Amino acid sequence: MEWETVIGLEIHAQLLTKSKIFSGASTAFGAEPNTQACAVDLGFPGILPVLNKEVVHMAIKFGLGVGAEIAAKSVFARKNYFYPDLPKGYQISQYELPIVGKGHLDVQLEDGTMKRINITRAHLEEDAGKSLHEDFHGLSGIDLNRAGTPLLEIVSEPDMRSAKEAVAYLKSIHSLVRYLEICDGNMQEGSFRCDANVSVRRKGDSKYGTRTELKNINSFRYVEKAINYEIERQIALIESGGKVTQETRLFDPAKNETRPMRSKEEANDYRYFPDPDLLPVAVTEEMIKTIRDELPELPHQKRQRFMEQYGLSAYDADVLVSSRALAAYFETVVEESGASAKLATNWIMGDLSAALNKENLEITESPVTTAQLAKLLQRIEDDTISGKIAKTVFEALWNKEGDVDHIIEKHGLKQVTDSSAIEKLVEKIIADNPEQVTDYRSGKDKLFGYFVGQAMKASGGKINPQQLNELLKKKLSA
Ligand code: ADP
Ligand code: MG
Repeated sequence: MEWETVIGLEIHAQLLTKSKIFSGASTAFGAEPNTQACAVDLGFPGILPVLNKEVVHMAIKFGLGVGAEIAAKSVFARKNYFYPDLPKGYQISQYELPIVGKGHLDVQLEDGTMKRINITRAHLEEDAGKSLHEDFHGLSGIDLNRAGTPLLEIVSEPDMRSAKEAVAYLKSIHSLVRYLEICDGNMQEGSFRCDANVSVRRKGDSKYGTRTELKNINSFRYVEKAINYEIERQIALIESGGKVTQETRLFDPAKNETRPMRSKEEANDYRYFPDPDLLPVAVTEEMIKTIRDELPELPHQKRQRFMEQYGLSAYDADVLVSSRALAAYFETVVEESGASAKLATNWIMGDLSAALNKENLEITESPVTTAQLAKLLQRIEDDTISGKIAKTVFEALWNKEGDVDHIIEKHGLKQVTDSSAIEKLVEKIIADNPEQVTDYRSGKDKLFGYFVGQAMKASGGKINPQQLNELLKKKLSA
């Protein structure tokens, strides 16, 4: 039986404002519990929320980034439910009239093809506090520092057809909100998290199957794992005669499985109604125009430009534009070195990325500066060093041994291009390996690599490979 997966994501992006959505308390992460919650966040009687203008700007930025309609008038509503970390007894959110309407994002899939994912809406809301269950024997602690932190909830249409597509979309949104500088994207601290709605249906069916919702997954890898687990579980369930029940499930990374949390029957009736303490949000054409004029080049525009301007493949362009800082690093290196974009790409996506990943560093923390990498590429292109020796130089750069020319000088890494010196070495190798020479000459072509290896070994890898090849061929055939 052929199955098709259907996925829709609800993404919560914490907006990068200094103060909260309806109060002046700080949004900084990691402070002592309850030191960053004022009377508004604590839900004291008689308090009045005041909307932070900045969150409206940020939501509009996002809306423009996904080509969405921006509502001229949107409304905050109360979503009523009881929870210990929600002292007001309701969360202020947007319901019928969200600030951002229908939009879309074109996402690049692994095979390089583009897929359009439609966005249903994005609305503003406040975050709740946190319940702390560790450290308190038989009790729970409540930390309201997070209460009132502004969130943008981005809801997609059920347009994704695999876990990989869902992750590609999630990464594209992640990159977009960071480009727009409206969210720091930190998944570990929970500033960017997602709920995945997953269902399966038989190929060809026009109706969607019953979905489950996987809550608050905080890494790209877990999103993929959780969805894949859920797909398998639902298919196995239906194939054995069972039925998927609509419910919320939690992903357990340690066990790599999802577990039921609450079913739809137990779900709350939130009794939404417009918050009487807040006026509708009015957005003028003029505001939209000002914000549109200030938008940076967006990831998909940069991707297109990188492919056209630098002749990069769709894949390379996609990786390089994934963060604004990485894209800027690349462009600076190409500009400063005058080297080919392909060489710069290979070094940035190869050795540099590997080294950064290994030490868990961001590109902005790279010990190798753009000027240093640019110089390294110049020295490869002007044949001072070979591509292989360049790796040694790179390592020295990484270890802060100084500048490229200094390192080449200090370690004697200059490439040997003096043909008489190479000729001498080739002659010595031929003289030292009579058996191999006879075998080679009697047709064992594969031995050519052996001679190259010997010469490289003898010279510490410093011979210009092209010159070596030519001379070896000439001398061996003599
Ligand atoms: P709720 O408010 O109860 O979460 P919504 O209708 O807003 O419900 O849908 C939430 C998310 O679920 C959206 O991202 C939507 O694309 C997705 N979704 C809806 N139906 C399905 C389905 N059958 N399979 C997978 N995802 C779905
Ligand atoms: Mg939902």
